[in-house]
Amino acid sequence: MNPDLKTLIELQQFDTQIQQLSSQIEKFPSQIRNLEKELAEFIHAHEERQRRLATNQKERRDLEAEIQMTRGRISKHKDQLYEVKTNEQYRAMLKEIEGEEEKVRHLEDQMLEKMIEAEELQKRVGEAVAKLESEKGRVASEKKRLEDMQSAHTQKRDRLTERRQALAATLHEQVLNQYERVRRARGGVAVAPARDGLCSGCNVVLRPQLYNDVQTNEFLIECENCSRILYSPPQTPTERLENGSSVMAAG
Ligand SMILES: [Zn+2]
Repeated sequence: MNPDLKTLIELQQFDTQIQQLSSQIEKFPSQIRNLEKELAEFIHAHEERQRRLATNQKERRDLEAEIQMTRGRISKHKDQLYEVKTNEQYRAMLKEIEGEEEKVRHLEDQMLEKMIEAEELQKRVGEAVAKLESEKGRVASEKKRLEDMQSAHTQKRDRLTERRQALAATLHEQVLNQYERVRRARGGVAVAPARDGLCSGCNVVLRPQLYNDVQTNEFLIECENCSRILYSPPQTPTERLENGSSVMAAG
């Protein structure tokens, strides 16, 4: 195989790996932010329920006070029933008492609603308290796992970049420039295998003579459509069989 071609294939392998690592590395910060957001939302919802519970307690105290006050008035008015002088006053007083008793029933209904709400809130606050520490732990360990992966990926990318630079330095400047130019123009892929008469980079059919030359792996040949540098990948045993030569003969 042409030594420059061999180096370019390796260089492309390095660059593809480096590119994949970079796109993974880029995703970690937002994954970490999402985790932190999840925990912040959990805590926020918990605090919100605690506030509602405190409000609910105050509302119940106020209702209780109002019920007591109204009952006090009822019993005072019942005492006064014995002191009225006329039937008219008596009926008026009875009507007053009826109104107050109606009000107590209404307040008690409200009280019952608040108690049901408090019970539900209490339950959910209790669940959140029990879950909060484990949730903090889960987020912390998940965050650490992501940070460790981010740093491992970064180290790996740095090592690959070093090796890639050393390899690139062995190429003639002209060949390297050609590689870099195509790589920039073609989404990071400058070297592509040719298979079944096609450039695998752009899927365009190659001229038969060009394809024949590519199959020797002895020249730097560009695809006439996408400019990628072409090579012929080693055949798999199945392909060798399909192409008519036996594994025994090939081996
Ligand atoms: Zn092509």
